[in-house]
Amino acid sequence: MTDKLDIAIVGAGMGGLAAAAALRKVGHSVTLYEQARQFTRLGAGIQIGCNAMHVLRGLGLEGRLRADTFYPRSWNNRDWESGEVLFDILFGADAEQTYGAPYLLAHRGDLHAALASAVPPEIVKLDHRLTGIDQTGGGGVRLTFDNGHVAEADAAIGADGVHSAVKTALFGEDEPNFTGRIAYRTVFPVERLKGVDVLNCTKWWGEDRHVVIYPVKPDRSEIYFVTSQPEPGFNLESWSATGDVKVLREAFEAFHPEARAVIEAAPDVHKRPLVDRDPLARWIDGRVALLGDASHPMTPYMAQGAAMAIEDGAILARCLEGLDRDGVEAGLRRYEATRKERTARMQFTSRQNVWGKGVTDVDWVYGYNAWEAPLAS
Ligand SMILES: Cc1cc2nc3c(=O)[nH]c(=O)nc-3n(C[C@H](O)[C@H](O)[C@H](O)COP(=O)(O)OP(=O)(O)OC[C@H]3O[C@@H](n4cnc5c(N)ncnc54)[C@H](O)[C@@H]3O)c2cc1C
Repeated sequence: MTDKLDIAIVGAGMGGLAAAAALRKVGHSVTLYEQARQFTRLGAGIQIGCNAMHVLRGLGLEGRLRADTFYPRSWNNRDWESGEVLFDILFGADAEQTYGAPYLLAHRGDLHAALASAVPPEIVKLDHRLTGIDQTGGGGVRLTFDNGHVAEADAAIGADGVHSAVKTALFGEDEPNFTGRIAYRTVFPVERLKGVDVLNCTKWWGEDRHVVIYPVKPDRSEIYFVTSQPEPGFNLESWSATGDVKVLREAFEAFHPEARAVIEAAPDVHKRPLVDRDPLARWIDGRVALLGDASHPMTPYMAQGAAMAIEDGAILARCLEGLDRDGVEAGLRRYEATRKERTARMQFTSRQNVWGKGVTDVDWVYGYNAWEAPLAS
């Protein structure tokens, strides 16, 4: 038996929370530092792939998520104009048996709240924005925050998203690639829909734009959509801004009536630029490692960004299980070596935006169970 490690995680998004719960499960002590003063319930949906559900099941969240999310028949891909079905990625009982876990569609706030419920609230330090991180001579990590707090830990994890301050501290400043495209998204009550039922997850494929529509509650009482479209002249500085529903409606006015009816029912929308990165050469430096969007941000076209962050958490915990301070650096190297190939493949595949447009092999994505997958030697 070894002494348990004290691990600091920067960022309490999906990745940071999943990693915290997984690390606690293998016996380590964790403190999460989050810049936000409180968690907000962003009006957005999230697809929880079967691969992410394996991890969430291991964290004890399956029952809660099944009760609070929509279980789709499939991810149905249709032509923007004719409505012709291009490819149907089937879920349901057969797929659940094949992949070992369900595919669920959630409100982003519900998934975040479920993950937050998997850690004791007292380990989450809100209103702590990381401003500095150094490896100390004594074999630890010192973290400093904008509120003056200084913390020490045996290891630190940067789960602080695509603009990661931890990544900048380790490897220098650089901007992610802006794809030139914007996502508009919103969640609204089903009562606003007139004359159309949203029964499933559907991606409507246009020539240079698309929209994905699905319910996020088991009774289909809330509907979500997310678009991807070019928007010349978009000002990158407005990272997460309110969108103009009129501009959005015009962008999709030629789409199939079923898709248009949903877009027209939206009372308001948010928009954000779509970015990704090429795979990083390194995710770790000594006792500090990156996780989730900090290490492998990707376009949302496979709906796998959060799933990768959640998988990272389980693999990280397995790589640090049973280790003491002397083993931290080797454990983090093992984590990086185990994760890089899969996440790089996901980044490249997602960037192409062809997932589900025609016949697609989905087994390598959904059939992965991070609790059992082989670890790098
Ligand atoms: C339009 C869109 C749709 C998507 N749909 C899906 C989907 O259906 N399924 C899916 O799996 N993925 C989806 N994704 C991807 C997913 O949202 C991300 O991959 C996921 O949120 C990454 O989680 P994370 O914890 O790594 O980072 P984040 O969610 O960005 O969390 C980072 C956290 O760190 C905090 N933070 C940042 N800087 C600091 C600092 N200096 N100090 C302290 N705290 C800090 C932030 O406040 C935040 O809470 C989508 C993405 C987009 C843009």
